Amino acid sequence: MRYLILSDIHANLSALDAVLTAAPVHDHVLMLGDLVGYGADPNEVIDRVRSFPSVTMIRGNHDKVGAGLEPTDGFNYLAKHAIAWTASTLTPEHRRWLAALPQGPSLVDDDVEICHGTPFDEDVYVFDDLDAARSVRAQDRWICFFGHTHVPAAFSFSDQLARVPLTRDPDPRIALDPTVRYLINCGAVGQPRDGDPRAAFGLLDLETKALTMHRVAYDVASAQRRILAAGLPDVLAERLARGR
Ligand code: ZN
Repeated sequence: MRYLILSDIHANLSALDAVLTAAPVHDHVLMLGDLVGYGADPNEVIDRVRSFPSVTMIRGNHDKVGAGLEPTDGFNYLAKHAIAWTASTLTPEHRRWLAALPQGPSLVDDDVEICHGTPFDEDVYVFDDLDAARSVRAQDRWICFFGHTHVPAAFSFSDQLARVPLTRDPDPRIALDPTVRYLINCGAVGQPRDGDPRAAFGLLDLETKALTMHRVAYDVASAQRRILAAGLPDVLAERLARGR
């Protein structure tokens, strides 16, 4: 089984399409939430994701708020502005579909589970080792994929937590040890925040027990133009070019 791991697409169709073009052969897609918010293509991204022949999906915090399931209270000014625009732009049918996305964590098979923030709370961020240690103790499977931070990271846990070093060039490849647990973020498709503006995604091959993290350049200028044309804040366009 080969899983393509996508997270935090954030209504960026240019980035999603570049990832789908570059993606290695896979059997199933894991989508870790935040299809919408920040970007200008929420309906188009939902249509694209709905066309995947084989996919497991969970919602993210932006999907939840964009669908009207929660108020915008926890959002900063930018996120609030963007999600209000998203809510008014989604078709009623797309809004209903978004509202019906399941909450994580989701157990995908005997080896893999997915969550948006952490297995114990979909809205909590894993930034540091303390967050990761709390999170890895709450996971049920060998590997837990998470998103939400938009920053690639990998932790292993046997007796204690360790960070798995990630290179940038070439793309990191992690040989997975079946005797330790893993908590892994493959980065964001549509709004990377690690200083690398290229779209990020992962591929897990359970047969060879290998995880590869990938980056692919996409048409940032086109995504920026659509953000500005939609009347969304300029900084949402600017940050795409900086990967922040
Ligand atoms: Zn996000």
